[in-house]
Amino acid sequence: MNTELLKVFSEKVEEIIKAGKILHSRGWVPATSGNISARVNDEYIAITSSGKHKGNLTPNDILLIDYEGNPKGGGKPSAETLLHTTIYKLFPEAKAVVHTHSPNATVISIVSKDFVELEDYELLKAFPDIDTHETKIRIPVFPNDQNIPRLSKKVEEYYKSNKEPYGFLIQGHGLYTWGRSIEEALIHAEALEFLFECEIKLMSLR
Ligand SMILES: [Zn+2]
Repeated sequence: MNTELLKVFSEKVEEIIKAGKILHSRGWVPATSGNISARVNDEYIAITSSGKHKGNLTPNDILLIDYEGNPKGGGKPSAETLLHTTIYKLFPEAKAVVHTHSPNATVISIVSKDFVELEDYELLKAFPDIDTHETKIRIPVFPNDQNIPRLSKKVEEYYKSNKEPYGFLIQGHGLYTWGRSIEEALIHAEALEFLFECEIKLMSLR
């Protein structure tokens, strides 16, 4: 690894470890679930290793992979690596991807059929290019699939005709969201968590 690559990778490793602690403290990545990645450059991505607890990540738990998901220098990247690489290919502005298995994301993904519609919430302004509550966004829900290449293909197909850069749900599984920095990806995760919780509370009142 050359000096420049090592420097950027080390920065991303620190950011991912910090993000893991935040996601764990919120209860969004229970029991080694979830994963986090960050774009290093045009050739490589930093991503959490498979099966690690996100509240206790160490530098050894973050791997450098290429855009096909192959690790540079060994290790077993997260089982869902291809979903991360697919997002980076679809959205050139995405610099970090966060995947959570929170109760709210899981529940709303089960009760919603093809998408979750979020409308008229002030917090929609947490997303880029939204500056009014008078907005409606859709978070697509894909059926869960242990075949990650097949699931990644479905995600790729969907975003060919829908360029809404907010996130997607996998049924009974969790949320994927991303941002122009790791901080922004965490803000998007937090905003969607809040919005999903509001939707679930409203459903229980109706
Ligand atoms: Zn998952």
